[in-house]
Amino acid sequence: MTDRVVVAGAGGFIGHHMVSFLKREGHWVRGVDVKAPEYAPTEADEFLELDLRESDNCMRATEGMHEVYQLAADMGGIGYITAFRADVARNNVLINAHMLEAAYRAGASRFFFSSSACIYPMYKQHDPDVTPLKEADAYPADPEEGYGWEKLYAEKLCQYYDEEGKLPTRVARFHNIYGPLGTYDGGREKAPAAISRKVALASDGDEIEIWGDGQQTRSFTYVDDCVEGIHRIMRSDHAAPLNLGSDRLVTIDELVDLVSAVAGKELVKKHDLTKPQGVRGRNSDNSECRSVLGWEPSTTLEDGLRETYRWIETQVASPTARVAPAALGA
Ligand code: NAD
Repeated sequence: MTDRVVVAGAGGFIGHHMVSFLKREGHWVRGVDVKAPEYAPTEADEFLELDLRESDNCMRATEGMHEVYQLAADMGGIGYITAFRADVARNNVLINAHMLEAAYRAGASRFFFSSSACIYPMYKQHDPDVTPLKEADAYPADPEEGYGWEKLYAEKLCQYYDEEGKLPTRVARFHNIYGPLGTYDGGREKAPAAISRKVALASDGDEIEIWGDGQQTRSFTYVDDCVEGIHRIMRSDHAAPLNLGSDRLVTIDELVDLVSAVAGKELVKKHDLTKPQGVRGRNSDNSECRSVLGWEPSTTLEDGLRETYRWIETQVASPTARVAPAALGA
């Protein structure tokens, strides 16, 4: 029997890719989001535009579904999540609490929750040469204000539903997912997309603005690895949160150099120290991911950035390439 699955957040970056992945796996897929995807038509069999902060809408979204992929969230890059903590925390608490309860009432057999590396304690991320973060490092808790606290609380909600036998839950902590079809302008974009846009718009020899001093470090995970990891976590017996991320640590300046190399441009970095840069360093420890899944993300940053840059370069050259609402799935 073909499983009927719902992807919440299917109008967004990872949700859109998740829908395509699940279709390739042979599922019947319902996509749900408050908006349709901006850059390419959805491959979902059915697409419902619903505000998932409302309990009734979550019931509609999950009705008749065997599995629920909860990727809907009010989120963005560091500029966005630090500027709008009240909205982000409130909206996401509502979405996650209602989606869990609705999935349970719909009799779903499994629920996936997209958590974040932002749940890790600030006190473990002061050094650019950071020790990679293990799952157990989450406590004692001191996550990113707003967004991180909400994700940590939703992880706990998933744990309670799972432990009380209401609904089997699976949780991944994503580490900086990037790739084509991700937001690249408008204020919600994250570092790889923002840098790719700035590089695409610059001419050889130009100056581009970089947030912070460029020495802050991160690891970046290509979206194809992300959706494959979600699938593997969903099929596993592991209910506790798992890191889903690359463990190759780079500085933001190195990221800029990699994108510039793909573009074939020599650019001058102008560091703006007044802009938020988030934690000083963050990396994923993948030992548990390897031992539970026998797998870890493997797309090289060079390969992933090439695909991402090429897509953003085309978008920037022709912004009208965005999908008109009428052209989208039902
Ligand atoms: P995204 O912003 O592209 O997608 C999220 C989608 O949720 C958007 O399409 C948005 O319209 C939708 N949404 C927001 N409020 C809604 C509402 N009230 N009702 C219905 N839909 C609503 O973000 P993404 O990068 O695809 O992230 C997907 C998930 O992964 C989120 O839970 C996010 O917190 C998590 N995550 C992402 C990253 C990353 O690097 N992209 C890192 C850590 C965690």
